[in-house]
Amino acid sequence: MTSAPIVPGPVTVRVPAKVNLELLVGPRRDDGYHSLSSVYQALSLYDDVTVGEADEWGVSVSGTLAEGVPTDDDNIALRAARLVADRYDGEPVHVSIRKGIPVAGGMAGGSADAAATLVALDHLWDLGLDREELEEMAAELGSDVPFLVAGGTAMGSGRGEMLAPVLTRGTFHWVLALAEGGLSTPAVYAECDRLREGTDVPEPVATPALMAALRTGDPHELAPQLVNDLQDAAISLRPDLGEVLSDGMEFGALGGVVSGSGPTIAFLVEGTEAGIDLAVALTASGAVRDVRRASGPVHGAHVIHHRVD
Ligand code: ATP
Repeated sequence: MTSAPIVPGPVTVRVPAKVNLELLVGPRRDDGYHSLSSVYQALSLYDDVTVGEADEWGVSVSGTLAEGVPTDDDNIALRAARLVADRYDGEPVHVSIRKGIPVAGGMAGGSADAAATLVALDHLWDLGLDREELEEMAAELGSDVPFLVAGGTAMGSGRGEMLAPVLTRGTFHWVLALAEGGLSTPAVYAECDRLREGTDVPEPVATPALMAALRTGDPHELAPQLVNDLQDAAISLRPDLGEVLSDGMEFGALGGVVSGSGPTIAFLVEGTEAGIDLAVALTASGAVRDVRRASGPVHGAHVIHHRVD
């Protein structure tokens, strides 16, 4: 008697968003990138990415936040799939993305989908990739992609892709204020360069006080350490963000910072109760498009379902 061949069914990977607790932007390098010192934290706001074998390459996107995500070769998840296929002789796949991470919000949603696709294909094709191989392909796809594979809390240097884990204690609670529209990351960097023209910009180095605050697990210690060198540029392009920041602080946040290149603003709060209160107040103010609560650190891209028929 012959048994039916085992067909690897689609793999679903859950991947978090990130917030930058500290984003220090150094001088513009010759290759056009800026040297960065970034302390990332992975937050419990997720995209679910399902990758399965298909007759042709494709990508589809669902969820209330799906608007603005390309469904052609511009989608970074599809680029990730093709990269792995080129290296390991893979056949076409279809990538289905359920968006829970705001698009163009400074929370690395696209990078997250790329990270999830790498992890999904590692399982689907049973590649047995080690951490180094995954991180190397991730870095090729984008500066934030390696962190979304790793998760937790980490320090990134170079373009942000050279990672070192950071020791933290406990769980931090966040309220994310989502703004109308998005901000283009290159436009925010260009505005940052314009605002700093003529000033001497030092090489960025992570702040020891931030590391110490993370080790205490105390949000009161962490709040004053939140910093983002792109914040002035984001507010210069979107002055309404300055108002949302001051509203959030007035409504009881311990600290607030523009996430990455914006326009999402991340507010640190004392705990779950305080998070609910702030979310209600921000929603009632009408100054934001939507509000989400999240906590961190959480794990990076991880398989949540693998059907084998
Ligand atoms: P970052 O924080 O890394 O700068 P972001 O969160 O501001 O990124 P993304 O959500 O990654 O921004 O989207 C930026 C742009 O990338 C979108 O406007 C969209 O055109 C494009 N894009 C390509 N693939 C994806 C994807 N899978 N999900 C979201 N956006 C994507």
